Amino acid sequence: AVNDLSAARETLSRVFGFPAFRGVQETVVGRVLAGQSTLAVMPTGAGKSLTYQLPAVMLEGTCVVVSPLIALMHDQLRSATANGIRAATLTSADTDRGQTIERFRAGALDLLYIAPERASQPHFRELLESAPLALFAIDEAHCVSEWGHDFRPDYRLLRPLLDSFPSVPRLALTATADAHTRADILDQLGIPSDGLVIAGFDRPNIRYSITPRDNPLRQITRLIEGQPGPGIVYAPTRAGVEKLADQLGATGRTVLPYHAGLAPEVRAANQAAFVASEDMIMVATVAFGMGIDKPDVRFVAHAALPKSIESYYQETGRAGRDGDPAVAMMLWGAEDFARARARLGEMDETRLSGERARLDMLASLVETPRCRRAILLRHFGENPPETCGNCDNCLKPPAVTNVTELARKLLSA
Ligand code: ADP
Ligand code: MG
Repeated sequence: AVNDLSAARETLSRVFGFPAFRGVQETVVGRVLAGQSTLAVMPTGAGKSLTYQLPAVMLEGTCVVVSPLIALMHDQLRSATANGIRAATLTSADTDRGQTIERFRAGALDLLYIAPERASQPHFRELLESAPLALFAIDEAHCVSEWGHDFRPDYRLLRPLLDSFPSVPRLALTATADAHTRADILDQLGIPSDGLVIAGFDRPNIRYSITPRDNPLRQITRLIEGQPGPGIVYAPTRAGVEKLADQLGATGRTVLPYHAGLAPEVRAANQAAFVASEDMIMVATVAFGMGIDKPDVRFVAHAALPKSIESYYQETGRAGRDGDPAVAMMLWGAEDFARARARLGEMDETRLSGERARLDMLASLVETPRCRRAILLRHFGENPPETCGNCDNCLKPPAVTNVTELARKLLSA
């Protein structure tokens, strides 16, 4: 195992150009090289991809990667190929499938990216039986759990496939899993509970602040004026994005919109402009941000309540990846909770209890007079100190009367 790790370090610098592993990467890679199935829970930006790409390069045979979105697969494919890794995707959108299958069978691929629905196709199982396999990597593994915030029924089809290759280790990866979801992922993917590796979730350089919305334009403008670097403003609807992007133009900064209603080429151009810029504001729906690698985002603002604590953590986590100070500001109103509760009414029983618990967690994050970071970290199973010194409540403890008022506002929603 020691040899494995020194060989892994050598591959890390030769293939990926990195001087050292970050955080739990080394633990995860060590387990995978030793053939131990693992669930790695690591925050966004922690470097999950490397934990299967590096073993994929080192091990004999192919690492089959399950990924929920073709766009994510293509990002991964591009960066892997740029590092000289032999990688391909096998999706309905690919025209070179015959060639990919040939390379796969010949053991000439390090990585093969597939969508989860392929797992249930009998042809695909036969294909796997005819190729040398090194590893199954299941990215965004919370999609397998109804407790997770992004359940994909297709992920449930993976287990029988994995079970028919008992000697191939499994590596499940996710950024966002509370204790309940974690246990469910282990169970659903057949990973032993001692295979769980959790990275620290704390992002100490992010200053959290959560404020009732009174005049959002003024509140967001004030934030922008105090933050010269690039920033993201999340708004809940396409119309809201357009309107806010328009209004924020008055700050004198370059402001662009991003949402699923824009033409793909406009979206791509706006995203590219943001990634390249040093002071731009992107006003966006949550369609923006996945797979974007921009380390110097100085603030993330939510103009309304996010969908869950998991989404809040993931979206705010796009700020300050370079480790320099960054701000996460959320504005919320009683009507956000009313809208979320109305959505609960349309849900079927199986999802209802999870969604209700998720909303309660958001309410307690918003309501608390105590440390925001402590609530977040406890939610992810950590045992943080009572105060962080870098959130609104720690920096300026709220008067008790205000808190009671907030609670009343919430309850009457
Ligand atoms: P995740 O999937 O966990 O959100 P990624 O796999 O996309 O994160 O990696 C995030 C960024 O970190 C990428 O730019 C990647 O190249 C970089 N990275 C990964 N591992 C290391 C490392 N050991 N040292 C430096 N940078 C790394
Ligand atoms: Mg990833």
